[in-house]
Amino acid sequence: MNDPRALRVPGPTPVPEPVVAAGARPMIDHRSQDFLHLIADLRTWLPPFFGTEGDVLLLTSSGTGGLEAAIVNTLSPGDRVLAVCSGLFGERFADIAAAFGAQVERLPCDWGRGVPPEAIQAAVAARPDLNAVLLTHNETSTGVTNDIAALAEAIRAGSRGTPPLILVDGISSIGGVPFELDAWGVDVAVTGSQKAWMSPPGLALLALSERAWEAQARSTMPRFYFDLARHRRLLREGVVPSTPAMGVLFALHAAARMMHEEGREAVYGRHHRVAKYFRSGLPATGLGLYAAADFSDTVTAVAVPEGMNTAALLAELQARHGVILGSGQGPLKERIVRVGHMGWADEEDMARVLAALAASVAAAANA
Ligand SMILES: *Cc1c(COP(=O)(O)O)cnc(C)c1O
Repeated sequence: MNDPRALRVPGPTPVPEPVVAAGARPMIDHRSQDFLHLIADLRTWLPPFFGTEGDVLLLTSSGTGGLEAAIVNTLSPGDRVLAVCSGLFGERFADIAAAFGAQVERLPCDWGRGVPPEAIQAAVAARPDLNAVLLTHNETSTGVTNDIAALAEAIRAGSRGTPPLILVDGISSIGGVPFELDAWGVDVAVTGSQKAWMSPPGLALLALSERAWEAQARSTMPRFYFDLARHRRLLREGVVPSTPAMGVLFALHAAARMMHEEGREAVYGRHHRVAKYFRSGLPATGLGLYAAADFSDTVTAVAVPEGMNTAALLAELQARHGVILGSGQGPLKERIVRVGHMGWADEEDMARVLAALAASVAAAANA
């Protein structure tokens, strides 16, 4: 079998052996003492990675379901929403809000760098009746991380009345890079088990501010499975509203224990170091970076020179070196390949990717 660490797409990410083993445990009753203990541990280990004193909710769905939950629990049809789009995931968040009847205006931003706070402040100032702003913390399609603290501050500075809710797609960032929901004044943050959490796909994790819970009580978008008030009420009793993805919960429990033991700051430090290591080794492979600034600690978009076939490069990497990288999406399909370095990742993993890239680029150039 292939080395599990060779899977270097930006999610799903490699799952360490103890997490794989935990995921393979026999099922338990989700109304039992055992389950209660599992939830109690997660309620201790998860919130620090969101920077919140509040609850972290667990939904059985992929990350996109978490984004949908963020929208339908805080907004009402007709609400005015500004969707900040600097990549494909920003567009998806906007699509969800539009699908549920919000009046969505997209603010297109440069894909190659973080969104400038001044632009957001001006955009908010020009739209005094906004109900919410949608932000993407880490644009997985471009390898750029936005400064959410600064953007949230800019939203408040630009707003004259009650500031709009700030909903953040943190799917590929939370758990790998610092996130401070309470301190930054973010209202909803969402992530997914298969990204920095080094677990299999199947769970979305969410945290809400007090302001978001107040909005939750008022908002009228339809919801049932994703009714977060119900989730919170039950979670506080150690249960969940419907049968959870039990195997993924076991896995997440093992992974969160590892992250808790490594420590939040050490986890963040490792991601920062590993990303930097990868970027600094890239020029020697003959390739460069897609982004111009604000490089992500969890995913790097590698620019593929014009004339080089990205599909052939990816195939060569896999066939000869066993290294699996992600393709570009949408308009970037022929222009980049993406390297995931979130969750279970260290310098050695990146050294292997760099060596494989160097050899494959040379082969592609000689072809
Ligand atoms: C992966 C990802 C998503 C989609 O998550 P799914 O789990 O595939 O639904 C959304 N936003 C960002 C930023 C992501 O990285």
